[in-house]
Amino acid sequence: METTCPFCKDNINTAAFAEENGFLAIYNHSPILPGHSLVIPSKHISSLFDLSEDEISAFFSFARKVTSFLTKHYKSDAYDWSLQEGESAGQSVDHLHLHIIPRNPGDLPDGEDWYVKLEEQRKQKIDEPGRAILSELEYNNISQMLKEKWAEQ
Ligand SMILES: [Zn+2]
Repeated sequence: METTCPFCKDNINTAAFAEENGFLAIYNHSPILPGHSLVIPSKHISSLFDLSEDEISAFFSFARKVTSFLTKHYKSDAYDWSLQEGESAGQSVDHLHLHIIPRNPGDLPDGEDWYVKLEEQRKQKIDEPGRAILSELEYNNISQMLKEKWAEQ
């Protein structure tokens, strides 16, 4: 799994807009809403249960900082967190990752659940027409902009 893991690629450190104590924050390639990012361990860890107490602390402390940063930057007063562990829970990549999604009033159509969107995104094929996936250029521009904003803090 490790060799094909998208979060273990060589360029993941370059893609990350923030890094702290062995954890990275990366922008989602197919964001459900603006600001949709992920916090991941920089080494290949599948489960939350494989983190030591110190790592758990570092993970959530960093995730909280990233959430504060993203909500501020995307002018939001709310956010969703989602951590899916195990295939039956919808874990798509076997590398621990926490979704952070800044929210705003009316950002999803009436009755549309963000979790349903997350599930839809997971089921979509990469070449499926209509999939809202960022181009490499768009993705790199957003990551670079967030990296600069993060550094300014
Ligand atoms: Zn990995």
